[in-house]
Amino acid sequence: MSPTNFVIRNAYVLTMDAELGDVQGGDVHVKDGAIMAVGKGVSAPGADVIDGAGMLVLPGLIETHWHMWSTILRSLSGDKPEHGYFPTSRMVGSFYTPEDMYAAARLSAAEAVNGGITFVHDWCHNVRSPAFAEADLRALTEAGIRARFSYGSPTGASNDATIDLDDLTRLSKRWSEFSNGGLLTLGLAWRGAASASTLRDYEVAKSLGLPISVHANNFKNTAGGIADLAARGLLHPGMQIIHAVWSSPDEIKALAANHCCVSMSPFTELRIGFGMPLAADMLAAGIPVGLSVDTVALSGDANLFGIMKAIQNVENGRALDEFRMPARRVLEIATIGGARSMGLGDKMGSLVPGKRADLIMIDTRAVNLAVVTEPAHLIVEAAQPANVDTVIVDGKFLKRGGRLTHVDTTAIVDAARKSYAGVRQRSGWNWPA
Ligand SMILES: [Zn+2]
Repeated sequence: MSPTNFVIRNAYVLTMDAELGDVQGGDVHVKDGAIMAVGKGVSAPGADVIDGAGMLVLPGLIETHWHMWSTILRSLSGDKPEHGYFPTSRMVGSFYTPEDMYAAARLSAAEAVNGGITFVHDWCHNVRSPAFAEADLRALTEAGIRARFSYGSPTGASNDATIDLDDLTRLSKRWSEFSNGGLLTLGLAWRGAASASTLRDYEVAKSLGLPISVHANNFKNTAGGIADLAARGLLHPGMQIIHAVWSSPDEIKALAANHCCVSMSPFTELRIGFGMPLAADMLAAGIPVGLSVDTVALSGDANLFGIMKAIQNVENGRALDEFRMPARRVLEIATIGGARSMGLGDKMGSLVPGKRADLIMIDTRAVNLAVVTEPAHLIVEAAQPANVDTVIVDGKFLKRGGRLTHVDTTAIVDAARKSYAGVRQRSGWNWPA
């Protein structure tokens, strides 16, 4: 049972709020899922006391684009073109059942929570029938995580057909039945302006008031990217552009002028050879930036600590500048910046009274974290999922004492193995032999 009224005492608190800053020896009081107070010697009558000594307390990490359905294909992108990420995910993904979606989303959410991620953007481009979407949503609900579910096409589908717009409309109109008390929001996983059908998807999502997210400018020298979206008047406030690694200065200006945000997944962008993320350029233009996993079929894992470290190292290396991307700036992107990029900065991303209580505790008494020097540097450069002692979402404990408390990890791993074996067998996929 999670207490509904508790106070964490005597921790090092990184609020990630410009005014509140860091509080050494600080307390965080949570009641009924909301942050009540942050500071030193907070009065919290009747609250359960949680010892924060040796802990770094900070907002939960924010993940902004993850094809969670592909997690049962972890590290399945092979070493030859015919076994690369795109042919693998398209071919194997077309043999999925709703049970496979459920198994993959459950595994993803468990890995997320284990690594201190309290919000995920489940970019679901394998909705093969309404049952697929509902299976995915059921997994997110059971996990207790905060998430956006972005509804997409079946993987490998022709651009000559729309997505299931009747189902998207049905979900949108009845969203209160699926939102898990407001933890889940709905969006469109858009394929881009490829055809009249994909434009129809965009128009329907817009008319429903849903946030729209699209991959763009992944590849060098490809047409139809951000410049094209801008010329057609399709960029709009809150729209999320994924990767954007080959954005020209004019395209970055267009993103800023239209109040778009960008999601970057440095490990998959590097692993698949898209190129270098442009985090510092986007931030300099005032564009909200979020970090993302993308797919563990390429990245192997969903470690947002590693992703933070990668973005810092790539930016500094690219700029030949030790000071280009300070750790504190990276941690902002992974918390409040990512929250703002998802349009949810008023609910999550910083530890401020009135916001929902999505927060994590990192135990600094591990050999890889001693000694504590500068906490933000330590989190970005040294912390690992195993150092996450406690994860709280909406005031509920999902990990405590280093163990997931909300889900049965043995059952999750068993189901994921079965699903992987099933899709391998049905698809006849031959790598690895
Ligand atoms: Zn992606």
